Amino acid sequence: MARPDTEPRADDERLDRLATVATRGDGDRDRLVVEAPFTGDPLGTVPACTAADADLAVRRARTAHHEWADRSFEERAAVVERFGDLLWDAREEFLDLLQLEGGKARRTGFEELLDVVSHCEYYGDAGDLLAPERREGAFGLLSPTRVNYHPRGVVTIVSPWNYPLTLSVSDAIPALLAGNGVVLKPDEHTPFVALRAVELLREAGLPPDVCQVVTGDGAELGESLVAGSDYVGFTGSVETGRLVAEQAGRNLVPCSLELGGKNPMLVLEDADLGTAVRGAIAGCFPNAGQLCVAPERTYVHDSLYETFVDRLVVATEALTLGSGSDLDTDVGSLASGEQLERVRAHVEDAREKGATVRTGGQHRPDVGPYAFEPTVLTDVTPEMDCFREETFGPVVAVYPVGSTREAIERANDTDYGLNACVFTESHDRGRAVAERLDAGTVSVNDPYITTLGATDAPMGGMKQSGLGRRHGPEGIRKYTDQQTVAVSRVGPVAPPSWVPGEWYTTALSAVVKLRRRF
Ligand code: NAD
Repeated sequence: MARPDTEPRADDERLDRLATVATRGDGDRDRLVVEAPFTGDPLGTVPACTAADADLAVRRARTAHHEWADRSFEERAAVVERFGDLLWDAREEFLDLLQLEGGKARRTGFEELLDVVSHCEYYGDAGDLLAPERREGAFGLLSPTRVNYHPRGVVTIVSPWNYPLTLSVSDAIPALLAGNGVVLKPDEHTPFVALRAVELLREAGLPPDVCQVVTGDGAELGESLVAGSDYVGFTGSVETGRLVAEQAGRNLVPCSLELGGKNPMLVLEDADLGTAVRGAIAGCFPNAGQLCVAPERTYVHDSLYETFVDRLVVATEALTLGSGSDLDTDVGSLASGEQLERVRAHVEDAREKGATVRTGGQHRPDVGPYAFEPTVLTDVTPEMDCFREETFGPVVAVYPVGSTREAIERANDTDYGLNACVFTESHDRGRAVAERLDAGTVSVNDPYITTLGATDAPMGGMKQSGLGRRHGPEGIRKYTDQQTVAVSRVGPVAPPSWVPGEWYTTALSAVVKLRRRF
C-alpha cells in the first residue's frame, strides 16, 4: 500500500514554543526526545521535568485554585465552553499532533477530539450535580440535612500515550469544573497534545496557574505528584496502577485507576453475522488495536464460527494501513518500537505454539517502522501469551463455543473486567447476558462506542481493570469532597441531665416507630 501524498505536519518552532508550557523551576533541564512513529524520526523535545518541578506544579495549582473555586459554576463552565469551541476551531492542528506523536489514523484522532468536545458540553451543563443537595434528615423536618460538594484542591491526571488528548483533557474538564487545580502528567511519548490543550485552556480564560503540565519520566515524577495531590486520576497499565495505588495508600490520597483489559466479544447463535463482523472490525482495529476497550477475544457460537471467521478475514484484508492525513485510512501505526515488539512477540509466540494466523501477522516496514497488519488468529490455546495477556495491538483471537453459557464462562475467565460486547438479534437476551459478564461496560450489537460515548453513564473496570469510574455524575463528584451539613431545630440531640435514661430510650424508640410508620 503506497503512502498517500499528504502527511500530518507541525513546524519545529511551534513545537519548541509548546514545550515551554511545561512547568519547570530555574535552571536547565535534560530534554526528552519525542519520536514520530510514522517515520521513527525525532519530532521534538520537551523538558525532562524533575521531582522539584512536580512539587512546583502542585504548589502553583493549589495556590491558583482558590480564586478559581470561588467563581460560580457558570463562570467556570463559560471557560470550558470557550475551550471546546477553540479546540474545534483548531481541530486540524490537533489531528496533526495526534497523528505525529501517536501514529494513529486521522479518523481515530477525530473521534478522540469529538470525545473531548462532548465532555465540555456534558460537564459544562452539569452544575446541578455539584449544587448543594437536600437529603433525608435523621429527624425529618426537625433536622434538615444537605450535602455540599467542595473541590478537593489539586487533582493530578496521569495519562498513557494511546489516547493522549481524551485521557488527559476529558478527565481534566470535570476536575476543573468542580473548582480544582489540575496537574497533567502526559506520557513521555505524547506530551505535545496536552501542552497544546493547556495553552488553549488559558486562551479560553483559565487563569494561567490553575492547570499545569509536567513532562517527563513517570517513575521519577510519580511519587511527588501523588504525595502532593488531593486526588489522582490514573490511566495506564495494571502494573503502574498498583504502584500509584500503593503511593496513594501511603499518603491517604484518594485515586481512581483506569487500567488494562482483555475484552471479550460474544457472538450468540442468533446474531446477525454481518453486524457481528462489522462490530469486530469497528472494535478490534481502531488506533491499531491500542485501545483499552478493544475486544481481543471473540467467542462465536459453533453454528456461525466458520462463516464468521471467513467473513472477518475478508473484512480485515479490506482495511487500509497507512500514515497519511486523509480520513479514509483505517489503521495507522503502532505507537512505538516497544509496542511493535510486544505485538510481534504475542503473534510469534502464538504461531510457534500452534495458532493459525488467518490473516495479517506481519510487520509492515514499507508503511512505517512500527506498522503491523491487522491480524486474526484461531486455534489459540491457554499456554500462548495472547490467551490471557493484553496484547494492545491489532490482533484478535476467535474461539468457537458450544453455548451461550460456555461463552459467558470463558469471557469471565480472566483477571480483567473492563469492557465486553454481545451480538444477538434479541436485545433482551443481550441485556440478560450482559448482566452475567464481569465487565464495567457492556455494549449489545456494538463493540464499545455506545457505552464509551454515553458520557452520562459511568465507565471503568471491574476486577483488575481498575477502581472508580469516569463519566456521568460519578465522573465529576469524585473530584469533590462531600460534606454533610445538618441543622437541629431542637438543639443538641441529647437528653437534659434530669431525664432518666429509661425516658430517653422510650422517646427514641417512639421516634424510630414513627419513622417506620411514615
Ligand atoms: P503505563 O502504566 O506504562 O504509563 C501510563 C502513565 O503512567 C504514563 O504517563 C507514565 O509516564 C506514568 N507512570 C509510569 N510510571 C509511573 C509511576 N511510578 N508513578 C506514576 N506514574 C507513572 O501505561 P502504558 O503502557 O503506557 O498504557 C497502556 C495501558 O493503559 C494498557 O494496559 C491500557 O489498557 C491501559 N489503558 C486503560 C484505559 C482505561 O480507560 N481503562 C485507557 C487507556 C489505556
